[in-house]
Amino acid sequence: MEARHLVVVGAGISGLAAAWSAWQAAQDCGLPLRITVLEAGPAVGGKAQSRSHGGDWLTEGGPTGFLDGEPALDRLVALAGLDKLPAEAAAAHRFVVLGGKLREIHAHPLRFAKSGILSPGGLLRALCERWVPGKRGDQDESVWDFGRRRLGAQVADRLLGPMVQGVFAGDAKAISLPAAFPKMAELEREYGSLFRALGARRRAARRAQGSEATVGGPAGPGGVLTSFAAGLQALPLALAERAPFAIECGRSVVRIEPIVAQASGGAREPRWVVHTATASDALVADGVILATEGWASARLLGSVAPGVAAELAGIDYPPVSVVSLGYPPGAARHFPAGFGCLIPRGEAQRALGFLWDSQLFAGRAPKGHVLVRGLYAGAVDRRAADWSQETLLSTAQGEVAALFGVQAAPLLRTSVQWAQAIPQYQLGHLARVQRVEDGLRALQAQHAPLDLAGNALYGVAFGKAAARGMQVGEARVRAWAAMD
Ligand SMILES: Cc1cc2nc3c(=O)[nH]c(=O)nc-3n(C[C@H](O)[C@H](O)[C@H](O)COP(=O)(O)OP(=O)(O)OC[C@H]3O[C@@H](n4cnc5c(N)ncnc54)[C@H](O)[C@@H]3O)c2cc1C
Repeated sequence: MEARHLVVVGAGISGLAAAWSAWQAAQDCGLPLRITVLEAGPAVGGKAQSRSHGGDWLTEGGPTGFLDGEPALDRLVALAGLDKLPAEAAAAHRFVVLGGKLREIHAHPLRFAKSGILSPGGLLRALCERWVPGKRGDQDESVWDFGRRRLGAQVADRLLGPMVQGVFAGDAKAISLPAAFPKMAELEREYGSLFRALGARRRAARRAQGSEATVGGPAGPGGVLTSFAAGLQALPLALAERAPFAIECGRSVVRIEPIVAQASGGAREPRWVVHTATASDALVADGVILATEGWASARLLGSVAPGVAAELAGIDYPPVSVVSLGYPPGAARHFPAGFGCLIPRGEAQRALGFLWDSQLFAGRAPKGHVLVRGLYAGAVDRRAADWSQETLLSTAQGEVAALFGVQAAPLLRTSVQWAQAIPQYQLGHLARVQRVEDGLRALQAQHAPLDLAGNALYGVAFGKAAARGMQVGEARVRAWAAMD
């Protein structure tokens, strides 16, 4: 039987996961399959961009790491032959800036109460959460509205707003709770109260494991932040190095076009012609997986599925700028042990937050030195994306000096500016997902298979993107195998 040809567009973690899972499923089903991955950029990795500076410093221009416990990532890490690097214990301490001061977000209720993050009135309001009636109806609700309704406006402003900045570089008033944090919506539905849910899950965890270690704290899901000794990009790089299929970098797809081709037995079968910018030889594919950003997929789908393209183009991707500053050893005393801090709007700083990278993972800075990373712009401060690189670097340096009291000049200054960084799951996102799925079904009924991977629809995190890629790649091959 003639091998089918699957073309995957994009070699971020989604595309590589899709290609690897398709290849594994094909081996499993005995399906002859040729896979080509086309990547517009010069290297694989997409947003994962780890850079070594003379072997002394290691900076991340995109994601810091992933939460351990995602089975799809475990499979990929095993395929890549890498050892996972869990974050240092210090990463458990997270801070928020209020009134210009760092305040730790303690998981222990008494210590949290003493942190000063909430006023006595704000605390009291949050404690009443148990008695707030559950949400009626299935109308969408923003993260901020959900927080205010259940826990009060202070929690929404001082904790949930910064949390949304940290995950989405987004605006809590625009992001949909059920789309972005489905577990929180589920907990309210199931238990009627977040505090009741937390209590029930703690008791269940204690019964099951005799420990509370796997229960997520109030600020986010459980799981250990994880990366690799050479940075997060080590995973896509190793997956590409070991790939039993073709990966072509520097090959941007500009158009996909449906055709009906003569198959080997004489039957006529729908296929795709995949046109690239850099080569005149277009590829003919039996199936295509788009593992690109929503706006990039929209451009490719414009002529074949205008409705789906319009939906994808409607997903907002605000800019994000990432600044890494490396300081000499004397600076270390200015930073408490921790992951980093988030900065609510209204504080003096423009940064969305700072991460203390040298405390997160071993090997990010020379011994005793400090590597700090600041995030700027996002949906809440788009104008910061217009700054020149020098303005960005000097602003970050000034804010580190003002917030932490570090007066030393940095030994390392570097930045990455993403014009369209992270998809925003805004109000109405789940309805949009539904319309995209309907549109794709209609497209599949007329043409050869075309699937969407990537983080535009089903989860923005690195682990979720990997899981979606694996699911799509495997499902496509199993569907082909079932047809034969
Ligand atoms: C600043 C920042 C910080 C982040 N921090 C975290 C974090 O700490 N933890 C976490 O879990 N997640 C984080 N994320 C999200 C995480 O980076 C993504 O979930 C993940 O990298 C998405 O992978 P992907 O493969 O879906 O997309 P991408 O990595 O965006 O890859 C898409 C690829 O498609 C290619 N492409 C686009 N158009 C074409 C075309 N026409 N032809 C060929 N190729 C094309 C692009 O060049 C790119 O390589 C962060 C994101 C950013 C931007």
